[in-house]
Amino acid sequence: MEKHNKFSRRRFLQAGGATLAGSTCMPTVATANQTQQSVPALQRLLRSADVPAAKGARVIVVGGGWSGLTMAKYLKRFNPAFDVLLIDRQSAFVSFPVSNAWLADQVKLDFLSHSFFDAANNHDYHFMQASVLGFDHESRKVYTDRGYVDYDYLVLAPGIEYDYSRIGVEDSEAQNLLFHRYPGGFVTSSELLTIKHKIHEFRRGVFLLNVPNGDYRCAAAPYERACMVAAIFKQQRLRAKILLLDMNPEIKIKKAGFTRAFEKLYGDYIEYLPSSEISGIDVEKRIVETDFEEYNFDDAIIYPPVRASRLIEEAGIANPQSPQKTPDTDPFKYHLPDDERVYVTGDSRSQPFSKGGHTAHSEAQYVAEVIAAHALDKELQWRSPQTMCFSAVDIEPLKAMSIITYYRFNQQSHLFEFDRTHMIEKWDAQGGQASLAWAEGMYRDMFYS
Ligand SMILES: Cc1cc2nc3c(=O)[nH]c(=O)nc-3n(C[C@H](O)[C@H](O)[C@H](O)COP(=O)(O)OP(=O)(O)OC[C@H]3O[C@@H](n4cnc5c(N)ncnc54)[C@H](O)[C@@H]3O)c2cc1C
Repeated sequence: MEKHNKFSRRRFLQAGGATLAGSTCMPTVATANQTQQSVPALQRLLRSADVPAAKGARVIVVGGGWSGLTMAKYLKRFNPAFDVLLIDRQSAFVSFPVSNAWLADQVKLDFLSHSFFDAANNHDYHFMQASVLGFDHESRKVYTDRGYVDYDYLVLAPGIEYDYSRIGVEDSEAQNLLFHRYPGGFVTSSELLTIKHKIHEFRRGVFLLNVPNGDYRCAAAPYERACMVAAIFKQQRLRAKILLLDMNPEIKIKKAGFTRAFEKLYGDYIEYLPSSEISGIDVEKRIVETDFEEYNFDDAIIYPPVRASRLIEEAGIANPQSPQKTPDTDPFKYHLPDDERVYVTGDSRSQPFSKGGHTAHSEAQYVAEVIAAHALDKELQWRSPQTMCFSAVDIEPLKAMSIITYYRFNQQSHLFEFDRTHMIEKWDAQGGQASLAWAEGMYRDMFYS
């Protein structure tokens, strides 16, 4: 495995060429001609970025999602002397949790969208909008498309990307087409806007959704989304069918609750097909192939299996043996094996905790404390992240069910496993209100209080 390699000028230019050509979650290839023309511009990126001089030990947090936002806030909380810089390539935050309820018009976009400036101003850290290209652990520099920044500690929380090769779509052009026509809605906010438009414009026919296999982001969200799409079709009395292809043998979470919703509320709309391993997609002909069948569709939301953000791989810290290209890290303290100044958290982590916003939030509070303790030459005892996930199943009023769970480390198997779990699979309006109150509390914590 390539480990902690020096992020050379040559690699930097290569990475910069790729990222500048298009900073989406899809791979984009710059032509030789483009790269040649861009070289002077790329060389300018080797200068120091225009950020305020650090007034204490600088901690750079890469990724302003649920993990990074919480991390930035709590680093300052646990050690006010830290000079914290949060970097995200996007200009604003849009929440994925509760986005399915937004698809069904149960909340406004304002509820989900928040400003990085508010978070930074209210919690006394800096924010820079930039794409991070990599880092050099020897000189402790983070390279971005706006120049480099020196760090004392670095936290990487860049989230996930899609792995289209695991549904048989290998070619990058075909991947791009699939991503743009039938986005999964689990990585960028533009995908969500496209999906909302699709659902509300749909008039009749087959609308296909799928549930990926492996450790994908938010186990319940694809089933929740099927319910929300069905609720809209039902409200509009459409002559439409939702084909839900599950690549797993059965509903992965809240099985009794979702089964009841599919049967009682959406029996006329949702056709649920478990063990439907997708093996190929013909985007032009609108056909999904599984190992045994072919399904035609009129419109679709295709959610492929996921992997850690490509940044982890481009920075040379991904374990190529791991199915999701996650880095090897200390399972309890989250730092790279031989570098206690570089940490990986959130959905890019290698630990098998549920890929959820609440998990990322509680984990980031703990890791912020770990880093603050390290700066004081102290140790902190491991504590489990908490996973909390609400799932909406009906609208007008919004009705939801929920789960809370913790993890423990099994000393015999040396693996993490679920600890105590509290599940409410009876969905009702109280659950719907609780889901909105939960989200509001989380946004308040990450942005305002
Ligand atoms: C529809 C849906 C419903 C969900 N419902 C729930 C729920 O009810 N409860 C729950 O707990 N979770 C839920 N989740 C899951 C939750 O959204 C994720 O687990 C959470 O966002 C993970 O946080 P993160 O910080 O690791 O990643 P993200 O939130 O994805 O943040 C990563 C950030 O890194 C930035 N970034 C990436 N690469 C770079 C780079 N090279 N340079 C600069 N910036 C970069 C990205 O722009 C992004 O802002 C849901 C997700 C979806 C899609």
